[in-house]
Amino acid sequence: MNLVFLGPPGSGKGTQAARLAEAKGLVHLSTGDLLRDAVKQGTELGKEAEGYMKAGELVPDDLIVGLIEDKITSGVLKNGFILDGFPRTIPQAESLMAMLTKNGIEIDKAVLIAVDDDEIVKRLSGRWFCPACQATYNHPAKMPRKDGVCDHDGTELKRRPDDEEAVVRNRLEVYKKQTKQIEEFYRQELLLAEVSGQQSPDEVFESILEVVG
Ligand code: AMP
Repeated sequence: MNLVFLGPPGSGKGTQAARLAEAKGLVHLSTGDLLRDAVKQGTELGKEAEGYMKAGELVPDDLIVGLIEDKITSGVLKNGFILDGFPRTIPQAESLMAMLTKNGIEIDKAVLIAVDDDEIVKRLSGRWFCPACQATYNHPAKMPRKDGVCDHDGTELKRRPDDEEAVVRNRLEVYKKQTKQIEEFYRQELLLAEVSGQQSPDEVFESILEVVG
């Protein structure tokens, strides 16, 4: 099964993609995670991407397409995958189609997790993570046992710099201007399946299972 997950920042697509990947034995490829890793390790890609990410802007298409192309040609995706956070522009979606076709791979579904703006701002401003083990927390749905510290290793919790409200608003604008058209792209390919992200995480997961079969 080869899937693309779509949805605004904060729609829960990362969490749901990780859960579905685990349940179905798929590779979960998050371009946001790959880029954050590159920034942390100080690679060339990380240095180029960091400024865009801090401002909530998209990294240039060629950087991100190159990253995905490496994954496709390396063969790690051959037993099924979920793309999370890619494609985010029409040129990325077109490049993806071309790269997959060249390698004899097809997308089975593009799953859109729909959530409205106010809910997103509320969610992202309550989001925390552990810099040591990457566990995520959020207010009020999933709080750590002790305020501000990770349940697993006691590390002090942090917020993603791009989760500050002004940056979140910009990320939403960027989503509407550059990424929302991707929904139409996959609708025209008859691959789009929409689920409501405004249910409990378990209910969202159930809805996803229904649409992917
Ligand atoms: P995410 O964790 O998916 O919200 O991604 C965090 C940030 O990484 C985004 O705000 C962008 O700056 C960058 N990013 C991730 N995926 C892409 C992509 N497909 N195209 C361009 N920039 C991306």
